[in-house]
Amino acid sequence: MTDEIADEILVGGRWRRGTGEAVTSRSPLTGEVLARLRGAGPGDVDEAVRAGAAAAADPAWRGLRPHERARHLVRIADLIAGRAGDLAALQTADTGKSINETRALVASAEGTFRYFAAALETMEGAVTPPRGPYLTMSVHEPIGVVGAITPWNSPIASDAQKIAPALAAGNAVVLKPAEWTPLVALALGRLVCDAGLPPGLLSVLPGPGPVTGDAIVRHPGVGKVSFTGGTATGRRIGAVAAEKIMPVSLELGGKSPTIVFPDADRAQAVAGLLFGIFSSSGQSCVAGSRVFVHASIYDEVLEELVDRAGRLRVGPGADPATQVAPMVAHAHRDRVAAMVGAAVSAGARLRCGGRAPEGEEYEKGAYYLPTILDGVPDDAAICQEEIFGPVLVALPFEDEDELVARANATVYGLACGIWTADYRRAWRVARRIEAGTVWINTYKQFSVSTPFGGVKESGLGREKGRDGIQAYTRQKSLYWGLDEDPLPWAGDAAG
Ligand code: NAD
Repeated sequence: MTDEIADEILVGGRWRRGTGEAVTSRSPLTGEVLARLRGAGPGDVDEAVRAGAAAAADPAWRGLRPHERARHLVRIADLIAGRAGDLAALQTADTGKSINETRALVASAEGTFRYFAAALETMEGAVTPPRGPYLTMSVHEPIGVVGAITPWNSPIASDAQKIAPALAAGNAVVLKPAEWTPLVALALGRLVCDAGLPPGLLSVLPGPGPVTGDAIVRHPGVGKVSFTGGTATGRRIGAVAAEKIMPVSLELGGKSPTIVFPDADRAQAVAGLLFGIFSSSGQSCVAGSRVFVHASIYDEVLEELVDRAGRLRVGPGADPATQVAPMVAHAHRDRVAAMVGAAVSAGARLRCGGRAPEGEEYEKGAYYLPTILDGVPDDAAICQEEIFGPVLVALPFEDEDELVARANATVYGLACGIWTADYRRAWRVARRIEAGTVWINTYKQFSVSTPFGGVKESGLGREKGRDGIQAYTRQKSLYWGLDEDPLPWAGDAAG
């Protein structure tokens, strides 16, 4: 399945072998090698950026009217829809994710291209109020070449979230997928070529972040970087962007709180908490990884959570019945296990999980059981550090002011969930929580028309929504003189 795309990368419109380091994709289910390919080296990055700059400046792209550019995006969406089954299966093989989730991610990618095709046709400049004898306008123009750097946890959706608005804005894109999961981005590259996008507008350059990714960020021809990944990497990229005086958008990590008030619909809250942390095996930036439960219902809610977590169906991603699939890589599973082990050694109480499932069918996979811990102070590492695995830490609370202060007491600010029947309280708490997204009586729902992003160390800038296209543009102001006479100053000088 993967051989045909294994040894080629897309550099400036040409499929060829990379000149960089080897990149290996392994099955999270068996540990076996799925594909080996040569990643992109700095020379490939340079070629891709130059080709991208030429393609973006070519009248065949630059000269297109919005409705014509939109047609390209719609064709890409149609091809994604036509190959949805293969793309989902490939992503399940590459990331380990459940097939239900990868189908949803492919549908999200398709919807993203359709949305930005439509949004593109509604983009307008402005005629602004003049303060003299002139007409003033503000227009948005493409940046040129955009570097898009994505993580491994939802490849096709995060790739689309950057490529679609960047192309809609009239740019070229140099995409670098994560080392562990290069295959879906390459498949998307093939599909974009098949859709007839002018060559050079998209390059797909797998390779190690500190080499290939760094070369993209530093390249003088790259005018903006849109990054999704960990906070430490985001900080590094932000520092390079500051040196270059280059705009950057950063979608980073999280340690999102979910809050259960005593009046919450218990069945909805428990189902939402389980979905919020254990879907995607917890490998989600918005995973609800800290749950604050009111002290009056803490014991009951915890008991129910532990019981239900123990009954989630753990299995291979390809099985449609699977709820908790293997993690992306054995090394990542081991890292999560080490963090849980350290928490338990430091005094945390293990309520369930805390190990790989037993049985022959689980032996080779990067499995880890849904895990719940409690009995820790708010400043414990397990409450503060992003784990990026199926690990929930539970904390009781007494009153609203104390709760808000504790929920906000991390460096992150990506998301929050509130479970309550009292809409006034939901409103009050939602407005006081430091997060880019707050879900009330639901969790982990996404709409491409609603801006997404973090505050504090969870990120900078927003993706999605109509303004998502403008994030890939430069604003230019135009003054049109209407006066028949010379400017007074020039007149004085002449006189
Ligand atoms: P990561 O930061 O290790 O890697 C992300 C990407 O950056 C990869 O493609 C990697 O190769 C590249 N990279 C690494 N070092 C680089 C460098 N010096 N210069 C340029 N590129 C470099 O993150 P990850 O482990 O792949 O993904 C998990 C992280 O992503 C988690 O922290 C998660 O919260 C975050 N994430 C955030 C969002 C969001 O929208 N906020 C969404 C998904 C994932």
